[in-house]
This record gives sequence, structure tokens and C-alpha cells, in this order.
Amino acid sequence: MNPPETTTLREKLSGTVVTAADPGYDTARAVWNGDIDRRPAVVAECATREDVVTALAFGREKGLEITVRGGGHSFSGSAVADDGLVIDLGGLSRITVDPDARTARAGGGAVWADVDETTQRYGLATVGGTVSDTGVGGLTLGGGFGWLTAKHGLTIDNLLSAEVVTADGRILRASEVEHPDLFWALRGGGGNFGVVTEFEFRLHRVGLAEVGLFFWTLANAPDAMRFAKDVIATLPPGTGSMLVGITAPPAPFVPPEHHFAPGLALVVAGFDGPERHERLVERIRGGLPTAFELVTPMPYAELQKLLDPTAPRGILAYEKSLYVSSLSEKVIDVIAARLPDKASPTTVLPIVPLQDTFSTVPDDATAFGGPRTPGFVIGLAATAPTPELLAADRAWVRSLWEELLPHSNNYGGYLNFMNEYDEDRVRTAFGAEKYARLAAIKAVYDPDNVFHHNANIRPAE
Ligand SMILES: Cc1cc2nc3c(=O)[nH]c(=O)nc-3n(C[C@H](O)[C@H](O)[C@H](O)COP(=O)(O)OP(=O)(O)OC[C@H]3O[C@@H](n4cnc5c(N)ncnc54)[C@H](O)[C@@H]3O)c2cc1C
Repeated sequence: MNPPETTTLREKLSGTVVTAADPGYDTARAVWNGDIDRRPAVVAECATREDVVTALAFGREKGLEITVRGGGHSFSGSAVADDGLVIDLGGLSRITVDPDARTARAGGGAVWADVDETTQRYGLATVGGTVSDTGVGGLTLGGGFGWLTAKHGLTIDNLLSAEVVTADGRILRASEVEHPDLFWALRGGGGNFGVVTEFEFRLHRVGLAEVGLFFWTLANAPDAMRFAKDVIATLPPGTGSMLVGITAPPAPFVPPEHHFAPGLALVVAGFDGPERHERLVERIRGGLPTAFELVTPMPYAELQKLLDPTAPRGILAYEKSLYVSSLSEKVIDVIAARLPDKASPTTVLPIVPLQDTFSTVPDDATAFGGPRTPGFVIGLAATAPTPELLAADRAWVRSLWEELLPHSNNYGGYLNFMNEYDEDRVRTAFGAEKYARLAAIKAVYDPDNVFHHNANIRPAE
């Protein structure tokens, strides 16, 4: 394809326009998942919301496939398409905090590290993801869960409003009172409804996090899973937790004999002071002997970076997920039997409890794609330093996902943990009723399906 003429776009945009002829093209087109190697025709690095309007109009006029880049952190690499136009929001990363109102505004291209660092200056936080350079944009629009989800719900449960550039170039504010249909759809419906240039979040007082990480080797996998299941079911309400199949890193808190040992880690994060946490830690210690542990208070912003080393930019990645309502004996048997087969030391299997405040929010209050009843989202996240290891673990992910299917209460899985946006799984994740409501809203705000390079919702006829 011939590159489009970009002179006028370059004149109009206050940000930078990058094509294959410009220096920096390879950096501009790179995304977190190093397995994605797409060559867009134009990257419009937007600096203002008006830039977004300009870039969108340019892309539509030239008939280019349009993609939107928040933090560029999706597994699918949906932020870039071959021969397309990337609306890159990296320049829109400003964070402002109103400590009295306990609200924060974050630019559509901000990453969670920016948000956490700024809000924590006031001892405040909202619900963000567990890896700090994940984009606020994609994570929020797909739902968003993290260590604070048990206490404060999903990220979308804390979204107060959003500024959106719609497919026809209008700049709207969506909230409970302005364009409430759009606001509902943005809270879980992904990037289907426009380009969000600013998110406004509710903040909560969050001080020190009381963290405990307990590791069992695979020799103990079924017992460790049963024990972790019991602990998770009886956690003090509001405690963040994750059970993760993982290879022990060569970190200072890991005894040398366990470096690179595959196993299971239970991570708990309490936000209600040391006493409750100490009781919990004693209970875990008294329950099942661990290979090693890390128990320490840490600032919330540091907790938000705890898992960063597991997911460096440029690693090759592939993911599928599904929801289960409980860690049944069948689920435990399948996972414990298959964990030893993963090939890459960086591949992880996070089992994230979704409970407490998460499941107090009515299912139809937001467009979240997944059950609001208490349960777990299981991520099967292959990450690898080499194509060979990725190929091995991609096959492992696919076969393990198939084995878990009969035990799932929603095989659509979490939209933000998808590499391939199969229509069937997207529809299943939402359910027929929610999908139909989303499709009707899509028909109002994006009737031509301009924003389709994502977990796509087709506009209703
Ligand atoms: C290592 C790792 C850890 C993760 N941990 C968590 C976690 O703890 N919790 C969790 O909920 N998720 C988690 N995720 C999943 C994460 O939510 C998704 O990958 C998400 O898509 C990342 O958003 P992004 O803006 O960085 O991605 P991008 O690739 O930039 O965007 C993905 C898509 O989202 C849409 N989009 C992004 N920003 C905007 C915007 N401002 N306006 C309109 N559309 C937009 C676009 O359709 C875009 O193609 C994790 C992912 C990884 C790779």
C-alpha cells in the first residue's frame, strides 16, 4: 500500500506524525507484546484532544483502519494494525488530583504508575491494575481489577466521568447525567465507543499495604491450591489476593535453592492495618509449610510495582482466560496436573478472586463482560523470551484452556486477557442481553464501526 500524504496532518497536529519514512518509526509502532510486529501507515502521536479529532478525521477521510493506543499494553496488540492509523494517546498522560473532592483526572494515554504516584502524594488511590506500566485506557474500558478490587470494586466502579471523542469527531462528556448510555457502555464495553481523552476517578484513602507472599513448590500443588482456596474464602473482607502459578524468581527474598523453581504463590494485600494482617499471616503459616515467603508492609505505589519484573515490555506473549465460580476439585486437578508442563519460566497462571465489593455491584450497573457473582478469573498467560518457548506455551495455554472449559461458568473470559477476539467469546463474555444493549449504543455513537480493531461489538441493525 502507498503511504498516505501526511503534509496537512503534520501541519495541523500539535503532536508528532510518524511514518515508515521517519526516524523513530520502529519505536512508535512497538507495543508491550514483542510478538506483535505490525506496520501501521501512520502513527499520530496526539498531544491534545483536538489532535485526536484531527487524526480521526484524517484516518476516516483516507479510509485507513483506525486503532487507538492507550498504554500499548494489551496482549492482542490491538493498538496497532498493518497499514492503519494509530491514534497514539501517549502525549495525553496528565494526572490532576482534587484531594478535597477525592477525585483524579487521568489523560487517556496515562499508565497506572503515573496515576498511583500522583494520587499517593495525597494518601489516595483508585483501583488500578497489578503491573504499573499498563495503560489506564484499555484496562479501564475493559473493567479493570487489581489489589483494591475486593475493597473498592473494579476500576469502572470508580469511574465518575469520561471525555470522549466520538467517531463523528464530537467531544462529549459521559457520566451518570450526561450521555448516560455512553457512560454505561464505556464501563466494560472496551474501545468500541470512541477515544477517551480523559478519565475521572473516585479516590479512596489508601495508606500502607500489608503484603504477604507465600510460595509452595509444585510437589505440593494440589494441597497448596486447596489450602489457598480455603484461605481466600475466609479472608478478612476487602483483602486483595491472587493465587498464581509461577516460577520463583532469583529475587533476594527467594532462597537460592528455590531460584527458578516452578510452583504456586498466594499473594495477599491488606489495607486495614497490621493487626488483622498478622492474624492472617499466622493462619497461613500454621496451615501448610511454605518453601519461602515475603511478609512486609509496603507503600501502595510499591505494591503496584511488585509484579512488574514478571512482565517487561517486549516479551513475547499470548493469553486466554475464563471465569470459574469456584476452585472445584476438578479445576484444582486440571491445573495441578498441567502446571508442570509450561515451558517458559516467565509464563504465569494468575487465578484472581473476584469477590467482596466486586460482587455487590449489580450486574446491569455497568457493561462489564463477566459474571458479578463471586468467583475467579483464570488467566493463562504465556510469556517467553524466544519464539520457540512462546510456541510451546501458546500450545500449552490452548490445551489447558480446553481442559478447563467444562468447569467454567463463562468461557468468554476477561476481555482484557484475550489475544484473539473471537466473536463467539466476546458475545459470551457479555451475555446476550448486555451484548444487545451495547450493540444498540454502538449504533448511536459509532454506526459505521470505525472502532472495530478490538473486542468488537457490532452496531445493531
Ligand atoms: C503484564 C500485564 C498485566 C496485566 N494486569 C492486569 C490487571 O492486573 N488487571 C486488569 O484488569 N488487566 C490487566 N492486564 C490487561 C490490561 O487491562 C489490558 O492489556 C489493557 O488492554 C491494557 O490497556 P492499554 O491501554 O495499555 O492497552 P492498549 O493496547 O493501548 O489498548 C488496548 C485497546 O484498548 C482501547 N483503548 C485503550 N485506551 C483507550 C482510550 N483512551 N480510548 C479508547 N480506547 C482505548 C483500544 O481499543 C485499544 O486497542 C494486564 C496486561 C498485561 C500485559
